[in-house]
Amino acid sequence: MPAQFIDGKSLAETLRQQVGDRAKRFLSQHGRAPGLTVILVGNNPASEVYVRHKVAACEKASIVSELIRLDASCSTEALLQTIQSLNTNPNVDGILVQLPLPGHIPEKTIIEAISPNKDVDGFHPVNAGALFTGQPCLKPCTPLGVMVMLDHQKTPLRAAEAVVVGASNIVGKPLAMMLLQAGATVTICNSKTQNLEEKTRRADILIAAVGRPGLITAEMVKPGAVVIDVGINRLASGKLVGDVDFENVARVAKAITPVPGGVGPMTIAMLLQNTLDAAESVAHAQSLT
Ligand code: NAP
Repeated sequence: MPAQFIDGKSLAETLRQQVGDRAKRFLSQHGRAPGLTVILVGNNPASEVYVRHKVAACEKASIVSELIRLDASCSTEALLQTIQSLNTNPNVDGILVQLPLPGHIPEKTIIEAISPNKDVDGFHPVNAGALFTGQPCLKPCTPLGVMVMLDHQKTPLRAAEAVVVGASNIVGKPLAMMLLQAGATVTICNSKTQNLEEKTRRADILIAAVGRPGLITAEMVKPGAVVIDVGINRLASGKLVGDVDFENVARVAKAITPVPGGVGPMTIAMLLQNTLDAAESVAHAQSLT
């Protein structure tokens, strides 16, 4: 039987409407809409597209968004000053610095300058540490979106074998941590992993987050597994594909995400949700003082 198709686009649309309803309630309760500020340094073409999508999604969800554009030659100091003024601006609930940054600006310094309460990307070490220790925090959008998809699919996680291929700080590692906390037994693979197929064939839930088209073939997938493809790769033909050989893996998997239309739209929905969560949590803390 062919795999069930996990429609991230339609789930993300539903979630965005829910965020929009919450944002309207926030406005009526607090007299202002939740606010997200996106900082774009330079004009990397892919970043331009991502930023445009994020800003447009905010508007549709009744979140006020501001795009700050800085020249590619801007200094680290100028970027830090911009972040500092946003950290103290009570109308700004979320700050997102679009990565990658130009080579002369150290990403770590910039990520660490964002107030952890406004770190809607969930990349700040305070949020990463809180995730690691199971404390409430803002979580990275892509792994969070994957967890919401699995939950929506009613995929059992407790005692399941989960294999995450890819171990970056923004996708693979935080996703592995979320799966572990949900009770899965987790294997994380990286570029040094020997005999990848032996690991991936154990997976009830297989996540590919590498950035290599066709890395996961049908032979590497346990029949009946749920396969989530985080990868986004543009082929020479211009076609957008994931890391999974979709056509053939769909013949053995129980469920599979497409690319595009799978994890990607969920990432933006989670960014909106994080912005609302950040706004509500600060408003709640203020109401207690
Ligand atoms: P990244 O920082 O380049 O990390 C890639 C990871 O894959 C690394 O841990 C690397 O191992 C591992 N790897 C490389 N080759 C491998 C191989 N042959 N076998 C096993 N592991 C291998 O990438 P990323 O930022 O996590 O992004 C991964 C993919 O997801 C990209 O295609 C990206 O475009 C996509 N992405 C999608 C979304 C979305 O919204 N859908 C969001 C973010 C990223 P080492 O640690 O050993 O180097």
